[in-house]
Amino acid sequence: MRIDVFTIFPELVEGFAGQSLLGRARRRELLDVRVHDLRSETTDPHRSVDGSPFGGGAGMVLMPEPLFAAVEAADPPRPLYLLGPGGRRLDQALARELAVGPGFSLLCGRYEGVDARVTDHLCDGELSIGDYVLGGGEVAALVVLEAVGRLVPGVMGNDASADDESFADGLLEYPQYTRPAEFRGWSVPEVLRSGDHGRVARWRRAQALARTVARRPDLIEARGGLTPEEQALLDELGDG
Ligand code: SAH
Repeated sequence: MRIDVFTIFPELVEGFAGQSLLGRARRRELLDVRVHDLRSETTDPHRSVDGSPFGGGAGMVLMPEPLFAAVEAADPPRPLYLLGPGGRRLDQALARELAVGPGFSLLCGRYEGVDARVTDHLCDGELSIGDYVLGGGEVAALVVLEAVGRLVPGVMGNDASADDESFADGLLEYPQYTRPAEFRGWSVPEVLRSGDHGRVARWRRAQALARTVARRPDLIEARGGLTPEEQALLDELGDG
């Protein structure tokens, strides 16, 4: 799996992608993350990448020449996605799609954004991480990298944990507990210490349903409501 990132702050992206889960995956050659400086092909003394907007207005816009030149020199894996608030919203389903591979690339905007010819003629699409405005695409690229990277087979120690977690089947995850069994008078639910895997599985499923109904009814609606079996499980075990 290869993911190329284009940015005017390569060290920022490298710093994050060199550590923890992504860093380990790179060292084990499960993930090939390549970070490119958008200034790499500039030839002027200031290595300029931005200009003021035609038509006036505040701020600066990333120019097409340096961006096309940097991308063309690297010949990155396609599709190449621009990060931007107007793009397709990242969710777990999209992360799973991207994790199938063999790779893709991300272009980080800055300032007021990028010249529209970059969007129209260099990039293949646009990705957003949510309905708010960041100062640049780098943090968004890191979000995409981490959400996708951890789904690439072998990257997480235990691949089963990806099947079980929030959004995997349209539900939030059940509550998790670890040692100690008793902490300041709050104890871990008895069922989790019972050793009865069938009971544990039913309890977790009921808890996932209850949490999702309470916190994210939109997710329940999106999966077409609850089945009669799920409703029964919820009634039986959903409150603890
Ligand atoms: N003027 C633009 C915002 C520019 S923000 C507008 O109103 O739409 C500067 C850069 O930050 C963008 O080019 C983009 O790469 C990145 N960015 C900002 N918000 C983002 C978001 N929600 N998702 C992904 N990237 C974002």
